[in-house]
Amino acid sequence: MGPIPFDNTYVQLPEAFYTRLGPREVKTPGAIKVNRELASLLGIDPDWLESPEGVATVAGNYLPPGAAPLAAVYAGHQFGSYNPQLGDGRALLLGEVLSTQGHRYDIQLKGSGPTPYSRGGDGRSPLGPVLREYIVSEAMHALGVPSTRALAAVTTGEQVTRDSFLPGAVLARVASSHIRFGTFQFFSAQKNLDALKTLASYCVQRHYPERAQADNPALALLQAVTAAQAALIPRWQLLGFIHGVMNTDNMLICGETIDYGPCAFMDEFDPAKVFSSIDHGGRYAYRNQPGIAHWNLAVLAQALLPVLHEDQDKAVELAQATVDEFPALFEAAHLRGLADKLGFDEIRESDKAIVDELFELMASEKLDFTLCFRRLYDLACNPDQQVAELFEFPDALVPWLSRWRQRLDTDQLADNTRAERMAMANPAFIARNHLVEEAIRAGEDEGDFGPFFKLIERLSGPGQYNAAARHYASPPLAGQEVAQTFCGT
Ligand code: AMP
Ligand code: MG
Repeated sequence: MGPIPFDNTYVQLPEAFYTRLGPREVKTPGAIKVNRELASLLGIDPDWLESPEGVATVAGNYLPPGAAPLAAVYAGHQFGSYNPQLGDGRALLLGEVLSTQGHRYDIQLKGSGPTPYSRGGDGRSPLGPVLREYIVSEAMHALGVPSTRALAAVTTGEQVTRDSFLPGAVLARVASSHIRFGTFQFFSAQKNLDALKTLASYCVQRHYPERAQADNPALALLQAVTAAQAALIPRWQLLGFIHGVMNTDNMLICGETIDYGPCAFMDEFDPAKVFSSIDHGGRYAYRNQPGIAHWNLAVLAQALLPVLHEDQDKAVELAQATVDEFPALFEAAHLRGLADKLGFDEIRESDKAIVDELFELMASEKLDFTLCFRRLYDLACNPDQQVAELFEFPDALVPWLSRWRQRLDTDQLADNTRAERMAMANPAFIARNHLVEEAIRAGEDEGDFGPFFKLIERLSGPGQYNAAARHYASPPLAGQEVAQTFCGT
């Protein structure tokens, strides 16, 4: 066995699912960072991954034994318009591994060169988006949000041409799988029912084995994916995270967050907030995310229709009934998360006005989303009042705060349980845009990865504030705000 304990299954699916090809060599692979903890989890020796051979592997210059690289094909709705063929245009699945805990993961190289699905693109990635994805995906993981992860990042020693020349890089990305809603759309549009059935069964077995005995794998899959999305999207909402490009090719069947292109955490709360430079209509604004997730599920259901039931009316009925569970499932998970943020045992019917009013005040007062909730944690259970130096509620919140206090006084939760839940639900550190930008600028402009390393380190412990790290918890100063974020293309 080689240095990566490959155990590949996707490559055993029919050839219509992918094109087999290797990465294209780069000029001079250079190490940026290896995620040692994740490497160990995957059964990869972190020292090997940091060695020249490991770095060459991530760069695509060396194929370790057992790798079976392939570019997967998929389709997708991009900003609402159907694109019948996308696919891994700048990425390759190197292979799969079973973690030390027995969980199966894809290892993918992103930025590894052109493939048959590149549609004229160069198959490469500039350094900036690689650093961004590394920082934000690992921050999401540390916050407990299901997410793809970053195993390693390397430079290529080559330049990529965008509006200007930029240093090139490759990211080794890890996901429970990279199978997308759009993968089903591709086969549905091709009327390839065998492929749809095969893929549905494969996904149920791989991601939702508890449903593997279901008589109707396609229905079991749709139910599981609906539940997974209804668990995921509230986590974004509760952290002020804006994905930015919720196209159906960027929605994973496994329920992890993927594609950290034009994403951002909000500083000041604004429900209409959009960061993506290409989202002119605000389709993927913060407040639209739950509705878009529901829409995306309807698209997945549509793709699955031919294999849900032989009778088309029955198929539509099953699809509709399943997808229509999303709003209630979302609402329940969202309320559970809000209860944890506010320090309540649960959100009672009579609490809904308190919740709504808080969000209205946060918007009208332009309060910092993260610090506002972290300050509530301080006020409810932290005698050190730590973030008071960074954030204090304005006078407009005084009546609201006293109602919240009264409600807390009647709450059932034990103090230590409340403190634990509130600290977790109200992190002090999120991947603030201006800090991400600062780390990217230092790396891209000066080859200085110090700020990148420090930011990753800080974001790995989002729940524990200390004053020495106040720089990382502080909102942007005037002039530091980042107004737009970009796709990595
Ligand atoms: P994304 O915006 O990352 O979701 O990518 C959408 C589609 O465009 C996917 O099929 C990508 O593989 C493809 N793509 C993005 N950037 C490039 C590139 N530089 N070269 C080739 N294909 C790309
Ligand atoms: Mg994508």
